Formats: sequence, structure tokens, C-alpha cells
Amino acid sequence: MKLKGAILILSGPSGAGKSSLYKQLAQAFPNHYFSISSTTRQKREGEIHGVHYNFISKESFEEGIAKGEFLEWAKVHDNYYGTSKAQVIKALEEDKLVVFDIDVQGQANLKKAFPRHTTSVFVTTPNKSILQERLGSRGSDGDSVIQKRLENAFDEVRSLENYDYLIINDDLEDSTSKLLCIARSAFCKTSLYEMQSFLQNWEK
Ligand code: ADP
Ligand code: 5GP
Repeated sequence: MKLKGAILILSGPSGAGKSSLYKQLAQAFPNHYFSISSTTRQKREGEIHGVHYNFISKESFEEGIAKGEFLEWAKVHDNYYGTSKAQVIKALEEDKLVVFDIDVQGQANLKKAFPRHTTSVFVTTPNKSILQERLGSRGSDGDSVIQKRLENAFDEVRSLENYDYLIINDDLEDSTSKLLCIARSAFCKTSLYEMQSFLQNWEK
């Protein structure tokens, strides 16, 4: 009668605060699964293989593409990023909130694959100079990497109209409370219900 699980996508320019918001969400939603992407980018200080990402070589990634192991994949800032199929399907079957931190292209592909399950949230800073400050203060990327991310940011922000919700992440506490409301609503969407069987059951 009701489809199992729900999908919550977080997208937005690098440095907007997606990981910070996810950390808060994770505490409030123990019954969630964070989709661990595979990537060919360099590991940042503090990142753990199998927790933040599966850090793999370009050759292994391309082998995964050829074998059809990815639900979606994209080249972002010159590196491959992708979502493995098996774990996501399993988490949905377990009726979990499946959370993704993926780019704009990934969001479009996931929406196509799971139109009824998906709720999407675009996260951004109030403006570009705050984004620049945050990328600098995170201290995890060199100047050329930051420059590349800033150059791509405007194109990413331009895509926000394709999302269900927008969070302008100024104050983290306020943004967190918005995200928690959205996550709860993700499980109440009418699209998660099989209408015919719902109505038959309701009439009994
Ligand atoms: P993303 O995952 O989108 O790349 P992060 O969550 O890593 O972004 O945030 C980038 C930097 O900005 C981090 O140093 C983080 O602590 C900081 N940050 C996140 N949200 C806020 C906020 N609302 N106000 C100030 N700093 C923030
Ligand atoms: P970062 O290198 O800052 O962790 O991520 C860079 C970008 O890649 C972000 O926009 C992030 O959302 C995106 N990304 C991370 N994992 C995936 C994935 O599996 N698929 C896609 N399409 N994008 C991803």
C-alpha cells in the first residue's frame, strides 16, 4: 500500500554546509542510511574510507561503470563520483530514509530512477563571498581546488529551481531545523502511496 523508504537528496556547491547539516540530521534520524558514494578524488584530512566515501582508483571506477554497478555517476570537478546500486535498494526495502549528498546531475538521474520516493533539497550560502570564506576556513583544499569549486558554484546554484526545497544556510541551527522538517515530510508524500490499494482499504 505504501512504498517503502524515502529518498532525501542534498545538493549544493562545495562548502555550502551539506556535510555539516547531514551530521545534525544523522543524530535526529537513527533509522537512516547515508549513501556512501565512490570517488576517485583525493581523501581529505579526517576523511575515512568506507565512511565518507569509498576512495577508489580511476581504473576501478571505470570497471564499475562498465559492469553497471552504479545507480548514477558523474564527473564533478574533474573527478568521478557515483552511487552504488545494491546498498540503496537494500536500505529502501528496510523502510529507511536514504540520504544522498550528490551533485546536480546525480539528483536528476536519481529523480528519474525513483520519482515517487525522492525529495530534493538545494543548500547554498547566502552569497558567493561567504562560500569562498567557508571553503577557505574548512582548510581541506588547496587554492587551485578552491578556485575550481568557486568557478563551478554559480552553475550549480543556477539549477536550484529543479529542487523541491531551498535552504540558505546562514545560521546552522536554523538550517538544521528546516532540514529536519523536510526529512519528516519526505515520509508523508502522497506519491509514496499506492492510491488504488489505499482507497480499497480505506473503504472497507
Ligand atoms: P559541504 O559539505 O557542502 O562541502 P561543509 O559542511 O564541509 O560543506 O561546510 C564547509 C565549511 O563551512 C565547514 O568548515 C563548516 O564548518 C562551515 N559551515 C557550515 N555551515 C555553516 C554555517 N551555517 N555558518 C558558518 N559556517 C558553516
Ligand atoms: P566533495 O568532493 O566536496 O566531497 O564533493 C564534490 C561534489 O560531488 C559535491 O557536489 C557532491 O554533492 C558531489 N557528489 C558526491 N558524491 C556523489 C555521487 O555519488 N554522485 C554524484 N553525481 N555526485 C556526487
